[in-house]
Amino acid sequence: MMPFPISEATPVRFAGPLPDACDVVVIGGGVIGVMTAWNLAERGLRVTLCEKGRIAGEQSSRNWGWIRQQGRDFGELPIMMESLRHWKSLSQEFGEALGFRQEGVMYLARTEAEMAGFEAWRAEARSFGVDTEMQSAGQVAERIAGAATPWKGGLFTASDARAEPWVAVPLLAEGAQARGAVIVENCAVRALDIAGGRVTGVVTEQGSIACDQVVLAGGAWSALFARAHGVAIPQLSVRATVMATEPLPQVFAGNAADDAFAFRRRADGGYTLAPGAAHDFFIGPDAFRNFGLYLPVLKKDFRSTKFLPAAPSHYPDAWGTPRRWAADATSPFERMRVLNPEPSARIVADVCQSFAACFPHLGAPKLKAAWAGMIDTMPDVVPVVDRVAALPGLVLATGMSGHGFGIGPGFGRVIADLVAGNDTGHDLHRFRLTRFTDGSKIAPGPSL
Ligand SMILES: Cc1cc2nc3c(=O)[nH]c(=O)nc-3n(C[C@H](O)[C@H](O)[C@H](O)COP(=O)(O)OP(=O)(O)OC[C@H]3O[C@@H](n4cnc5c(N)ncnc54)[C@H](O)[C@@H]3O)c2cc1C
Repeated sequence: MMPFPISEATPVRFAGPLPDACDVVVIGGGVIGVMTAWNLAERGLRVTLCEKGRIAGEQSSRNWGWIRQQGRDFGELPIMMESLRHWKSLSQEFGEALGFRQEGVMYLARTEAEMAGFEAWRAEARSFGVDTEMQSAGQVAERIAGAATPWKGGLFTASDARAEPWVAVPLLAEGAQARGAVIVENCAVRALDIAGGRVTGVVTEQGSIACDQVVLAGGAWSALFARAHGVAIPQLSVRATVMATEPLPQVFAGNAADDAFAFRRRADGGYTLAPGAAHDFFIGPDAFRNFGLYLPVLKKDFRSTKFLPAAPSHYPDAWGTPRRWAADATSPFERMRVLNPEPSARIVADVCQSFAACFPHLGAPKLKAAWAGMIDTMPDVVPVVDRVAALPGLVLATGMSGHGFGIGPGFGRVIADLVAGNDTGHDLHRFRLTRFTDGSKIAPGPSL
């Protein structure tokens, strides 16, 4: 089997050098940090992006590559629609390499109740101008060749798309660098420098940088980092398993999912496969701290989660991971440069079986790779994009909750304008940090 394409063994491609000072430091080189740095540089701000491991080493290379408006929370949908426009212009700049293809997203229903859920989302999405349509069983059969599953019908958005994550995000980082962003891999940010109650810089393993503003886009590590500075983000992470097949005949050009499995065709002619919803959760201190806030989403989705008693050593919420550390000593971020979870063998076997049962003419899929990623999530499955009122100079851009790849270019633009003090052009109320503490009811986003 092929090793996962981005790891600690990947040669450093972005080596700085680290400046003494700049306007904004971005923590984290996933799609959110990269696109934020890109847009900040375009606005003429001096920006440094610090990545503890490799650009896109974590979620941003490990995801399914879906760029979807379909099924989005309505707070995110306008930003996602903007993001799709950015993806189109990015694909003009980078060409085929990005793997951007607009061939639609299809959700498939086995029950009438699922069809009703699809219809409810579509009805509300209509006012946003999305091209989502309900599909009858016959229409599904026309689009998806040779499927044996008796789907009742589906939900289809023709303008939805995909890209090839582990190629695309490093390319976007090159684009950010070409616009003037300084990008430094192997450079963990250990702590914020704070003076007079506001951010004045960061301490990294390679030295300090003075700056006025810091964007925390640390994915699954954001809560650990923020808590050490007195900022509580009720973020947890789940392990999501993915696999790639060897090339197979085309059964559907776009991306599709039902409750058992999801698939989409890759640029190399194989399929990226994953479970429809199943994932693993490692119990750690943050699970206890945030349990109450997650009850609404747990009630909706309890059966998809397998609970495991402890995360492996050095994971963000492992029992033994320190919650405080000195800025002049090795931090938890350097101890785990690239979070590379073992895929779940049980999920790999189940998904291969579901795929083979659905497409008997293709036979059991031969896998060329299997991997996993830690998805950072929030209690309402909606990100936090906000300034921290208690710590001026700190901006949070995290908790993308399993759908940050597609929206990355859109949020990157929005976050850069938030930092620059410009009108962001969107209502960011849904993404405020205080929704978890101001008595608001937790309102989970759609789980279609
Ligand atoms: C299996 C899987 C499938 C998914 N499928 C999809 C999909 O199809 N479509 C979609 O839109 N989304 C999908 N997602 C979600 C999407 O991948 C994420 O929401 C998105 O990549 C998050 O980007 P990010 O930049 O916030 O975080 P990440 O990509 O996780 O990047 C955060 C980075 O910050 C770095 N970092 C953390 N702390 C520090 C520090 N102190 N100093 C320096 N660096 C630090 C980390 O090393 C990491 O590289 C999926 C995710 C997974 C795991």
